[in-house]
This record gives sequence, C-alpha cells and structure tokens, in this order.
Amino acid sequence: MSSVMCPICRGDFEASLSISLPFCSERCRQVDLGRWFGEDYGFPREESSESEQEPEIN
Ligand SMILES: [Zn+2]
Repeated sequence: MSSVMCPICRGDFEASLSISLPFCSERCRQVDLGRWFGEDYGFPREESSESEQEPEIN
C-alpha cells in the first residue's frame, strides 16, 4: 500500500488504484491539461469587445 497526494485536488489516493497517475483520477488529469492550455491560449475574445473596454484618457 502506497498512498500519494494528487497535485490537483491534494487528496491522498492509492497509487496502484489510479489509472491517471500522477493524478488521482481522469478528472484531475484533465484539470491539469486545462491549466496549461488556458495559460497558453486563453479564452477566445472578440476584438470588438476589447475596443469597447479600452479606457479613455483625456
Ligand atoms: Zn485529484
């Protein structure tokens, strides 16, 4: 028996029972992947909305 800590949910789980090491579950593995893609690409934004949010400086 060897329990390890999931880096995503920080919960202890049995390593031999997990199918998504080093994560406790497939769900946590997807969360980790989502973090990387989210930081690299972010969410798609329309250019029109960005121009509307542009602050006016007088
Ligand atoms: Zn987890």
